[in-house]
Amino acid sequence: MCTECNYGCESPEVSNVNVPKIFGTNVFSKKIMKERLPKDTYKSLIKTMEMGVGLEPDTAAVVANAMKDWAIEKGATHYTHWFQPLTGSTAEKHDSFISPTSEGGVIMEFSGKQLIQGEPDASSFPSGGLRVTFEARGYTAWDCTSPAFLKEDAAGNVTLCIPTAFCSYNGEALDKKTPLLRSMSAVSAQAIRVLRALGNDKSSSVVSSVGSEQEYFLVDKEFYLKHLDLICCGRTLFGTQAPKGQELSDQYFGAIKDRVSAYMKDLDVELWKMGITSKTKHNEVAPTQYEMAPVFASTNIAADHNQLVMETMQKVALRHGLVCLLHEKPYAGVNGSGKHNNWSLTTNDGINLLDPGTTPEDNAQFLVVLCGLLKAVDSHADILRGTCASSGNDHRLGANEAPPAIISAFLGSELTDILDKLAKGEKAAKKDAAFLKIGVDTLPELPKDNTDRNRTSPFAFTGNRFEFRMVGSSQSISGPNVALNTIAAEAFDEIASRLEKAKNVNTEILNIIKDTLKNHSRIIFNGNNYSAEWAKEAEKRGLPNIRTTPDALKSFITPKAIKLFGKYNVLSKEELHSRFEIYTEQYSMNLNIEAQAAMQMVRRLYIPAAIRYTVELGNSIAAMGKSAPVQKELLDTIGKLLTSANKNLKKLETETNKANAIDKVDKQAAAFRDKVLTTLDILRADIDSLESLTPRDLWPVPAYSDLLFKL
Ligand code: ADP
Ligand code: MG
Repeated sequence: MCTECNYGCESPEVSNVNVPKIFGTNVFSKKIMKERLPKDTYKSLIKTMEMGVGLEPDTAAVVANAMKDWAIEKGATHYTHWFQPLTGSTAEKHDSFISPTSEGGVIMEFSGKQLIQGEPDASSFPSGGLRVTFEARGYTAWDCTSPAFLKEDAAGNVTLCIPTAFCSYNGEALDKKTPLLRSMSAVSAQAIRVLRALGNDKSSSVVSSVGSEQEYFLVDKEFYLKHLDLICCGRTLFGTQAPKGQELSDQYFGAIKDRVSAYMKDLDVELWKMGITSKTKHNEVAPTQYEMAPVFASTNIAADHNQLVMETMQKVALRHGLVCLLHEKPYAGVNGSGKHNNWSLTTNDGINLLDPGTTPEDNAQFLVVLCGLLKAVDSHADILRGTCASSGNDHRLGANEAPPAIISAFLGSELTDILDKLAKGEKAAKKDAAFLKIGVDTLPELPKDNTDRNRTSPFAFTGNRFEFRMVGSSQSISGPNVALNTIAAEAFDEIASRLEKAKNVNTEILNIIKDTLKNHSRIIFNGNNYSAEWAKEAEKRGLPNIRTTPDALKSFITPKAIKLFGKYNVLSKEELHSRFEIYTEQYSMNLNIEAQAAMQMVRRLYIPAAIRYTVELGNSIAAMGKSAPVQKELLDTIGKLLTSANKNLKKLETETNKANAIDKVDKQAAAFRDKVLTTLDILRADIDSLESLTPRDLWPVPAYSDLLFKL
C-alpha cells in the first residue's frame, strides 16, 4: 500500500522512484530486441521498422518467440492485438499463450503468424457501411513502428499488447491508425521532393512529430457516483454555479495539492513503465483541472501513447478515490479541456523543417515550408475543423471559449512583417541583433527565436512547430494529424513541382512567398481570437466559422476532401463516407444519451426533491397561517418552476423520440442539435433555478461547489 495517500493506491514504486530504472521496463524496446534477438533478425526487424519494408515470415517467428519469452518472464499469460477502432477508444481481445500437449498439459506458444496478423470478430465495431455483417471479419496487422508493450492491471494480470492496424478484408481502413500511417508516408514523400529541389540530397525521409498536451479534470469518486450525468455522459447536465469559479486565476500553475500530487506521481510511474515520456504536469485554469504533456514523438507513436495516457489517467484515478474526467466540458461556467497538438516535421537526419535555422539555406527552406503550411491550412480549414468535431468539443469551439471555431494561423508580428515585405518585393529591415541572414540577396533575415506567444490562436507558430489547439481532450489525436499530414503533403507536392521546373530556384522561392500571401494571407491573424471583432473580421475575410459537429463533419465528404485524401492514398471516398456516417451517428447517440440521462435525473431526482420542499413549505404555511409571506412567495416561485420544468421535460421527451425516429444520419444529427440540445438547455435553466432555491439537504446530488472545490 502506498504511504502517500489514504485511498488504497497499490503502487509500491510510488514511494521511491528510480526513473531511469523503471522507464520503459514494460516495453519490448530496441534495447531489449538487441539483447534477445539474433543479430540478423534484429537487423532485419530494424530495417522493417525504419524503412517500412515487409517482414519475412522466418524473422517474424523468431521475433514472436523472443517477445513471448520476455513477456512471460515479466508475468504475462496473455497477448492481444491492440487496435483503435473508429469509436475513438482502443480495443483488445486477450488470448493466452497456452497450447495443449498430447500429455494433457500445455506449453506456452506464440507464432510469427499470431504476431503479424489477427482476426478479431469485429462485427460490433462501427464500419459505416464498409463491411456487411456476414463478412464481419476484419483483420489486425502488426504495426512494428510502434513497440509492443505490457499492460498490468490491479489484479496482477499482465498482457502483451501488440499495436496493430485494423482493416477489412478488402484492405479498407476500419481504424484510426491505418490512415495515420498512410498520411505519414504521404507527407514524407512530398517533403523530400521539396528538400531535393532545394538542394538537399542527404535526407531520405521526413517524420511528422507530435507532442500532445493532455488536459483533464479530477473529481472525488463519492461525488461522481451520485451524478448519473457524469457517469453516463462525462459532463454535468445540471448544476448552479459555485460562488467562485476560475476568476481569481488561483488554480493555474498553483501549488499542487497533496492528494492530486500523489495521483500524478503514481500516473507518471505507470506511464514511464510503458515508455511514455511524461514530462510536464501542472494545475490548469479551471478548479480541479490539470495537464500532462509528454516529450514529442512521431505522430504514430504519439497517437498510441496518448490513447494509453487517457486510459492510464482514468485507471490510476480510481486507486486514489478519484475519477478522471476527459470530457471537453464537464462543467458549465469554467474552462473546458483540450489537447494541444504540437506538430512538426523532421528529417531522418534531424533537420526540423519548422525551425528557421541558422544558415541562409535553412531560412529559405523554412519560408517555403511555412508558405506550404499557410496554403494548406487556408485551403482546408474546414477539414481541420471537421477532425475536431464532437458533441463534447462543440461546447468549446462553438461557444465563447478557447479556441473559436474559426481557423486562423498565428505567426507573430515579426514573421508576418517579413513575409509581407517579401511579397511586396521590399527588403525586410533589420530589427535587432537576433536576426539571421538568409543569404540570397532579396531574401530577408529571420528572427532567431519567435517567443511571441498567442494563447488564443487555434493554429499558432511557436518557434519550431505549430500548435493546433482545437483538438478535444477526449479525442484520439489521429484524425487531426491525418489531416495535418495530408494537407501538408498536397501543399509540398505543388511547391516541389514548381521548384523542380524553375530555372532559378531562389526566384521561384520568392514567387511562392508572393503567391502564398496574395492568395492565403487571410488565414494569418495575430490578434485576440476570442474577441467579437475577430468573428466579424473573419467573416469579411471569408473564413469558415463552423460552429457545430453535424456541419463540421460534412467537410469529410466534399469533392475537395475526396480528391485530397484520394490523391495521396490516405482515405478513399468510401472510407471518408464511412467516417462521416460513423461520427455523425456518434454525435446523435451522445446527445440521445444526454437527453435520456437528463430525463431520468429530472423525473427521479430533481422534481421529487422540489416537491418535497413544497410539502415542507405547505406544512409551514398551514402551521403559521397568514404570517408566512416568505413561505408563500417561495412556494409560488417553486410551483412555477416545477410547472415549467415538467413542461420542458415532456418537450425533451417528444423531441428526443422524434429525432430518434429520423432515418438519415445528417438530418437526425441536425434534429438532435436544433431540437433536443436546445430543449435540454431550457430544462437545465429551470432545474438550476430550483437547485438555487432548495435547501442543501433536500437536493439529491452534490453541488458544483462540492465537485469543483472539495478535492
Ligand atoms: P506549453 O503549454 O507552453 O505550450 P508544454 O511544455 O506543456 O508547453 O508542451 C509543449 C509540447 O510541445 C510538449 O509535448 C513538447 O514535447 C512538444 N514539442 C516541443 N518541441 C516540439 C517539436 N519540435 N515538435 C513537436 N512537438 C514539440
Ligand atoms: Mg502546456
